[in-house]
Amino acid sequence: MSSSNPTAAAGDDRDLTPVMRQYRAAKDAHPDALIFFRLGDFYELFYEDALVASRELQLTLTARDKTRAVPMCGVPYHSAGTYLQRLLRKGYRVALCEQMEDPKTAKTIVRREVTRVLTPGTAVDAGLEASESQWLAGISAAGSGSLAAVGVAVLDLSTGEFRATEFAGPSAWALALDELARIHPAEVLFPQSSPPGLWGAAAAGQGLLKETRGGDALPEEGAGTEIRAARTELEDWVFSEEYALPLLRQQLRVYSLDGMGLEHHRAAAIAAGAIVHYLRATKQGALEHLDILRFYQRNEALELDAVSVRNLELVEPLFSVEGPQTTLFWTLDACCTPMGKRLLRAQILRPMQSLEAIQARLDAVAEAVSNLRYREGLRRSMEGILDLERLLGRVSMETAGPREVVALGKTLARLPGLRSAVSEFVTANPSSPWAHFANSLDTLDDLSELIARTLVDEPPLTLGDGGAIREGVDPDLDATRNLSSTARQRIAAIEERERERTGIGSLKVRFNSVFGYSIEVTKANARLVPGDYERKQTLVNAERFTTPELKDLEVKILTAQERSAEMERRIFAELRRQLLSNASRIRETSRLVAQIDLLGCFAHLAALRGWVRPQVDSGGILEVRSGRHPVIERRMEEEGLGRFIPNSLLLNSAPESGAGAAKVDGGPSLLLITGPNMGGKSTYLRQTALLVILAQCGSFVPAESMRLGLADRIYTRIGAADNLARGRSTFMVEMTETAAILNTATPRSLVLLDEMGRGTSTYDGLSLAWATVEHLHDVIGCRSLFATHYHELTLLADRLTRLRNVRVTVRESSGGIVFLHTVEAGAASKSYGIEVARLAGLPNPVISRAREVLKAHERAEDQQVREAGQKLSAEGRPMNVQMTMFTPLSQRIVDRLEQLDLDGLTPREALHLLAELQSELRGGA
Ligand code: ATP
Repeated sequence: MSSSNPTAAAGDDRDLTPVMRQYRAAKDAHPDALIFFRLGDFYELFYEDALVASRELQLTLTARDKTRAVPMCGVPYHSAGTYLQRLLRKGYRVALCEQMEDPKTAKTIVRREVTRVLTPGTAVDAGLEASESQWLAGISAAGSGSLAAVGVAVLDLSTGEFRATEFAGPSAWALALDELARIHPAEVLFPQSSPPGLWGAAAAGQGLLKETRGGDALPEEGAGTEIRAARTELEDWVFSEEYALPLLRQQLRVYSLDGMGLEHHRAAAIAAGAIVHYLRATKQGALEHLDILRFYQRNEALELDAVSVRNLELVEPLFSVEGPQTTLFWTLDACCTPMGKRLLRAQILRPMQSLEAIQARLDAVAEAVSNLRYREGLRRSMEGILDLERLLGRVSMETAGPREVVALGKTLARLPGLRSAVSEFVTANPSSPWAHFANSLDTLDDLSELIARTLVDEPPLTLGDGGAIREGVDPDLDATRNLSSTARQRIAAIEERERERTGIGSLKVRFNSVFGYSIEVTKANARLVPGDYERKQTLVNAERFTTPELKDLEVKILTAQERSAEMERRIFAELRRQLLSNASRIRETSRLVAQIDLLGCFAHLAALRGWVRPQVDSGGILEVRSGRHPVIERRMEEEGLGRFIPNSLLLNSAPESGAGAAKVDGGPSLLLITGPNMGGKSTYLRQTALLVILAQCGSFVPAESMRLGLADRIYTRIGAADNLARGRSTFMVEMTETAAILNTATPRSLVLLDEMGRGTSTYDGLSLAWATVEHLHDVIGCRSLFATHYHELTLLADRLTRLRNVRVTVRESSGGIVFLHTVEAGAASKSYGIEVARLAGLPNPVISRAREVLKAHERAEDQQVREAGQKLSAEGRPMNVQMTMFTPLSQRIVDRLEQLDLDGLTPREALHLLAELQSELRGGA
């Protein structure tokens, strides 16, 4: 939170006008925020803030005070929202400095105070995308030595979703940052004393705090992933146990944090405590909806690292110009409610790993797929259900007006309909998997009735406008309102009666904003004025009087409006309090609605698109018959681009059962995929990952059949183009990602590697790819797909028993090649790279020359590598494979080194030998 103080240039306080002194106090209290200073109908910005705002929002710059040339610009109060959002999106913080009294009634200068600080992670407004969560994150370390851990907490203030996790071990910081990158927070809070280099070297000028990960502090795992978020540095004491933990307990209203699973997770709790501190420091309202913090562990879910999330385009397109249609989320989103959409998105990013939970979901989906009427009834019953969580959040943060509470009430009123739609399943089948929802959905009738009873159906925008509270709620309010509305009649009645009593026909009851109500009598009639009239004012031709009755009525009328507004506020506050005291019920209902919606969405997709139920178990098989890529298939259909060609797959990570002749081949653990560019290799890889993700979300899948032994993690290394701009070479990125895979994959993981090694020289790339395939096959043994252009690798099938070659097929015709996009057994015989280049329009002479060059190279190199591969296969010495690509001379030297008996060598002999080898090398060079 650092910033220069822009008002410093303004000189001494004494030179400032009272208003500017108020401004300065606000700026001093919030030096790192742009001050939106309320002046009448405008928010004004001054000094440096004005320069920033005029630049970022294209506002005209003026001057507040010509002599001192105070730069100033402003936005109208009523349209401030869009301007604020633009600034927040750019990473700025904004403090709203409001007028705390009515200018009309203020005796001197209007009192002003900063009422709220908006920051990228806390500013929640109605314009927030329904399916997206806006996360404010905190990161913190705790403990030391073997107990050291890094905690991550995240909060979506708009819904009150609050969770935390923790990482330990040497890679704790890297894992924590990878988790943050996956969550994609809008703002990250971190302690001043975070490890150096944590945020990389990216400049954070002008409060634009989009940071790039990288730097010294990061171990290799997950490195290269970027977190683009506003970063907010807080002082270290905020992250101390003594401060953060009691604060968190107080917010969650618990005596101990143990009940939330945090007893052994101090770092996670501290990170959460820092978030609570920040919310209070930035005055985010009462926050009564923030009463649950959920501790989670990454391995509860199918783990997808940030690279895979991006590569597989799960929720964001790889290239923003393409629009959201390329994402899995977009393809799947048939949810009816905002809560359902958010759950779908969260599920895609964190599919399940619990067999039981997946089966339960599949059971419910299956029942809904097979019953069109109930399914449609269920989906119809969710139409019009608004964002319960966000409405609750707004009520809690006191940003909800009467209209929003009425909207909340209308949404609650739809819940009984939803429950009876769910109950249809149970009536038809008492042991239905939907029974759980029918039994546990709290339809919150008491709350919807309370709202309906209290507020009118169409209330005004703000409480101040009056008329939001229904008649009959409060007799005092009704009487007050009555008084106000019958005031004219009562005044008229007094006038009439007094005329009669006094016999003064011209007597009038008048109203004047300074003197209030009075009885006006012309001077000519003055003698008829009764004794009980009190003189109030004398005019040229008339006298004005009042009576105790009129005075009393006057007080009542004048304060009636104010009083009824005050009563409405009180009743509304009480309504709000009652709703908030039921916040956890509302949230639980909202959670169930989201789940019902998600199941309805999966069932709808399955029925609409002919998807099938995957058979899920805890074994090691992944078998797909005629699988399709859900996103590409839908796009091809919609754009009339023909039919997607289905492909099958069999992988098995479990070792073969049996021994000797009885050995049963359970299928390969690794498929090596060769074939031409554009043949469909990447699509096959991605499709496999997406099918596994879908199945572990509990969805049906686009295939004829699928069998899946649950995966613990999906690793992908597909394309690195998007990292180039971030200062790492393609090769470096590729190797870092591959290292992370080889170091952490387990036998239950699914590894997808595409064109590994293409960023370096052919032999280096081939050697690395070769060794990687061997490691995956021999050491890890997990289910892997390895797409490559190195045809030499296909030789490995002779030796690696659990590796199979498959190829994407093409048909050669007189007009060139045609891609069939079919995957079949066997290795591709040629690369067709030149053919694809021809299709791409390379000039004919270049194509012809490339063919000649290729032939020459193929003759020489193929022979060499083939010999080396065969030699190795025969010897069964896999680890020496790179040697075969050295020159014969270096091979000789290596052989001598290998045979050397180091123990029988004196230092002098060793030196001699070194000199000899060197001279041999130089001679041979
Ligand atoms: P490269 O080696 O150049 O990366 P590739 O073999 O990985 O190519 P992909 O990128 O997977 O090829 O696919 C190329 C094109 O073929 C894409 O436009 C894709 O949509 C289409 N395609 C791939 N598989 C299929 C399929 N099974 N059915 C229909 N179209 C497909």
